[in-house]
Amino acid sequence: MVQISGATKLLGVMGYPIEHSLSPVMHNAALSALATQQAQAFLEYVYIPWPVTAEALPTVVSGLKDLGCLGFNITIPHKQAIIPLLAETTAIAQTVGAVNTVWLTDAGWVGTNTDVQGFLSPLQSLNRDWPHITPCILGCGGAARAVLAGCAQLGCPHAHVIGRQNAKLEQLRKSCANTLSIEIHTHLWQKLSHFLPQTDLLINTTPVGMSPHTQASPLSVAEVHLLPADAIVYDLIYNPNPTLLLQATAASGRTAITGVEMLVQQGAAALSLWINQPAPVEVMRQALLACF
Ligand code: NAP
Repeated sequence: MVQISGATKLLGVMGYPIEHSLSPVMHNAALSALATQQAQAFLEYVYIPWPVTAEALPTVVSGLKDLGCLGFNITIPHKQAIIPLLAETTAIAQTVGAVNTVWLTDAGWVGTNTDVQGFLSPLQSLNRDWPHITPCILGCGGAARAVLAGCAQLGCPHAHVIGRQNAKLEQLRKSCANTLSIEIHTHLWQKLSHFLPQTDLLINTTPVGMSPHTQASPLSVAEVHLLPADAIVYDLIYNPNPTLLLQATAASGRTAITGVEMLVQQGAAALSLWINQPAPVEVMRQALLACF
């Protein structure tokens, strides 16, 4: 077993609560595998979960620099609140309006958002005519913004976003209008079945179907069958894996993409930023899959 030494450097994730986070399992498996591969007796880095309240956030962020921390992830509820505490943010973090990964430079903490890269990774390996695809996105919260930024990067010119509240849909549409090169059309759920026969890419960004409510699904089996036969259904939920929605998708012969892939790929993108070398993606994927 590779041990922590006096020279081991700190990485971590802060959120509140943080106990449920799977990132420590995924990152420490990767860091341990890298140390073993390089025949090191001690870990060069270790990744710690930090429960940080909103009140404590500024003190913790400033103190971590003094502790020699190289970087960290930020999760709910601090993805926006961290921004004023940083020296810089990348263009993609500004576009999404949220930061999930921070690293230290001479100028101070720099924040980016690797959720977009994580979301895109499993789609980029599929051979599809993205400029002719209009994605349909269920939900209009934080993850929907990263998904919209990803769809814009794919080259999709339009997207339908389905939500429960007109006010929130309108807020998302307005805030993305100036930052994203994708035209957003917003609709209430009652309209969903109308779009399904023309939807080649359906993305669930709601928590419907997430553990412990594993018997819930944003689409009925009959609605899944309304999608084109070659449609892709991408569920951002990673627990359970697969969700009821993805079980129905796979059973119908359509392409199902699980949220585990986005979680792995956003983590791999963050890790390679911190350690300046490629992350062992398969080790991270297997460590996560072993948690379910
Ligand atoms: P969020 O900001 O709270 O947004 C959730 C959205 O879902 C909101 O638009 C909300 O509607 C809608 N919603 C919630 N319950 C609903 C219901 N019963 N019926 C219909 N709509 C409902 O959350 P988020 O940060 O975007 O995260 C959303 C999901 O994505 C979570 O399951 C999260 O685990 C997953 N996620 C996965 C990854 C990954 O790496 N795989 C990354 C990020 C997020 P209202 O606005 O009306 O409340």
